[in-house]
Amino acid sequence: MADKRDYYEVLGVSKTATDDELKRAYRTLAKKYHPDMNPGDKEAEAKFKEINEAYGVLSDPNKRSQYDQFGHDAFDPSKGGVGFDASDFDFGDILSSIFGGGFGGFGGFGGGSERRRNAPVRGGDVAQSVLISFEEAAFGCKREISYGQIVKCSDCGGTGAEKGTSPETCSVCHGTGQVTSTQRTPFGVMQTSHACDACRGTGKIIKSPCKNCRGKGYIKITRKIEVSIPAGIDNGQRIALRGEGDEGRNGGPAGDLVITVGVRAHSTFERDGFNIYCEVPVTFTEATLGATIKVPTLEGPVDYDIPEGTETGTEFLLRGRGIQNVNSSSRKGDLHFTVNIEVPKNLTSQQKKLLSDFAASCGENNYSKRKKFRKLFDKDNK
Ligand SMILES: [Zn+2]
Ligand SMILES: [Zn+2]
Repeated sequence: MADKRDYYEVLGVSKTATDDELKRAYRTLAKKYHPDMNPGDKEAEAKFKEINEAYGVLSDPNKRSQYDQFGHDAFDPSKGGVGFDASDFDFGDILSSIFGGGFGGFGGFGGGSERRRNAPVRGGDVAQSVLISFEEAAFGCKREISYGQIVKCSDCGGTGAEKGTSPETCSVCHGTGQVTSTQRTPFGVMQTSHACDACRGTGKIIKSPCKNCRGKGYIKITRKIEVSIPAGIDNGQRIALRGEGDEGRNGGPAGDLVITVGVRAHSTFERDGFNIYCEVPVTFTEATLGATIKVPTLEGPVDYDIPEGTETGTEFLLRGRGIQNVNSSSRKGDLHFTVNIEVPKNLTSQQKKLLSDFAASCGENNYSKRKKFRKLFDKDNK
């Protein structure tokens, strides 16, 4: 009891909060930490208990005034308090008003409650992945995707009962799927409801189960679907096909098919957003004299004039030669290419002589950077 949090703090309200404010704070928190919303989460379960306890005290004017005077000691029997336990309270009414009819059975607090099994349930999302080429991503493509999908059994129409028979209404719960037990406590009548054991909460008893689905009403099939992958999609992006996932149960909506697209690397281009980048090797004569060079694009090579005296590493831009924007078919990225001078190798002695003669003909004015650099160098050595 020592490190019990203040009840007002638990609900996040001030000490002067009105009943309405308390109720609102409680609803928001109870919804957030309800065990049905957080299956298997022990921390949420503990929070949920704490919230219920705080609200149980503060919503009762007598208990609230005792708490305001004596704090937690008011309810601690070892300190002369009256003793208090969250499970003494029936929160069923307020909780069912929060969650509506969809949440049927609250199996009391602490153990987590069991949902009514014949309530509508949305079908699960199905995840699948597909690997496409760089060009397919750039221009878009169609792909046949096959995946496992849970669908209603066609033999029994989803009832789980063999052809010609039908499920019978459970006589224990009269088809509701829940049984309610009433308990008298010193604090009043406490009602709890839990899933019916006889029909496992379905409200129905199947005497002869369907052989195709073994009485489940649903089977897993392999489904094929043609998917249009839009131009401009990038590696790791997802396409969701609404309603193509598992079928819902008891009239619930179907889940989605979520496809993660993997894009293979390209041998020439790199991609960043909708812009693409590549390197183009040129000879030193092309760079020196200027030349019309071939530049690769996604649509095929194009001619490009590089000017006389182009330095190695210079980047040029081809506007609109990148990838189509996936969100707007009228917008395209650019192609950036960098020219790199390739130093010639495997020269014959005649070629070497021609180059030596050329070098000998060069003066300082042909190499301005080298000239500056040499000046620094010569100064240091003086
Ligand atoms: Zn069946
Ligand atoms: Zn039953």
